[in-house]
Amino acid sequence: MDVLGVPGQINLDYAASAPCVRAAADAVSALLPWYASVHRGAGALSRRCTLAYEQARQTVADFVGARADDHVVFTRNTTDALNLLARAVPAGTTVVTFAGEHHANLLPWPVGTVRLPVPSGPAQAVRALDAALTELRRSTTPRPTAGPAAVGRETVGPKAAAEGPAAGRPVLVAVTGASNVTGEVWPVAELARVARRHGARIVVDAAQLAPHAPVDLAALDVDYLALSGHKLYAPFGTGVLVGRADWLDAAPPYLAGGGATEHVGAATHDVRWTTGPARHEAGTPNLLGAVALAAVCAAFDAADRGALHDREQALLARLRSGLAALPHVVELHTFGPDVPRVGIVSFVVAGRDSASVAADLARDHAIGVRDGLFCAHPLARRLLAEAAARSGRRDLPPTAVRASLGLGSTPEQVDRLLAALATLA
Ligand code: PMP
Repeated sequence: MDVLGVPGQINLDYAASAPCVRAAADAVSALLPWYASVHRGAGALSRRCTLAYEQARQTVADFVGARADDHVVFTRNTTDALNLLARAVPAGTTVVTFAGEHHANLLPWPVGTVRLPVPSGPAQAVRALDAALTELRRSTTPRPTAGPAAVGRETVGPKAAAEGPAAGRPVLVAVTGASNVTGEVWPVAELARVARRHGARIVVDAAQLAPHAPVDLAALDVDYLALSGHKLYAPFGTGVLVGRADWLDAAPPYLAGGGATEHVGAATHDVRWTTGPARHEAGTPNLLGAVALAAVCAAFDAADRGALHDREQALLARLRSGLAALPHVVELHTFGPDVPRVGIVSFVVAGRDSASVAADLARDHAIGVRDGLFCAHPLARRLLAEAAARSGRRDLPPTAVRASLGLGSTPEQVDRLLAALATLA
């Protein structure tokens, strides 16, 4: 896949926003002469745009392994998608998440959300979720009053998921697929199994996983998935929420307005909202964004994902072993050094402010990285404290630097970063 870029600039900030691939740019260019309204016009141009938009929806559905009856709702990005789901959960839903999440998967959830501590490893994450859901079920299941039928039911499968651990009290588990701070891959399939066993649903924040690894909603038995086009080599402004139709069809529309209704009468309350993705997509949609995202999905589907994975892992290993060889650099990790990761590494340079490290890399070496706490403040702060304890150093800064890799990254770029960091000792 051909990545667009600026000669001379080394972009190692794919986790923030990936550069555009040519397939996306070409898809947009091809549609520009046909530019017309979606779902709103009878003309040939408009009909073609409507078709392109709905085909894009189907391509994205296939890309994430959506089930036939799942909805694919186009949103602005992952944040928007998770906020949409947060508004769509039935009243009384308990959300269970981990403190290691990106703010987009930490902050939208309703009052009463259970925030589990950052786990020490994938297996511990699974155990912690199991324990939390067991406790939740114990505390929400009515005490038996009328014989065995009233005792807490073991509920399995999608129907059970619709019912939750106690009828009327649904539970939604919200986890990341891969951390935007450490690149560590979370045990999504195992967490989904635990959720299912307890009759809970699960949403995966795939913002960082999808650009690096195939995601198959149905195979993972995950209920909902959110991702951002701009992290997936498409332009800004498009994301998706994919998943089970029932909550989405029953929820109030995320946006109220044209395109989301079946009937609007004269009285203010006389509105019948449509069902399906359109219920949450009021207003003229971002056709070019959807088409660009679908073009990237199609390009990934046509690519050798195994080869892309191997290439990225080789770059990641080169980067991590290079960082480990620099005595003044300390890497951050949650699960330990040896769990599966995508191409994201956060680290600190001892004795150096991270913002100044990033600024020096940009100014003196034309290398773009990110610094800060990466919109995952609870996790980043904790990992920085652990890094200080592990390394025994007292001169570590309070924020970190993040380098992230993608399709356009090369061994030379990694080496340039390592060489630049070596000069900061
Ligand atoms: N989740 C994760 C794991 C992320 O890395 C990000 C972006 N940094 C988001 C959610 C939010 O994505 P967006 O800004 O595109 O909404």
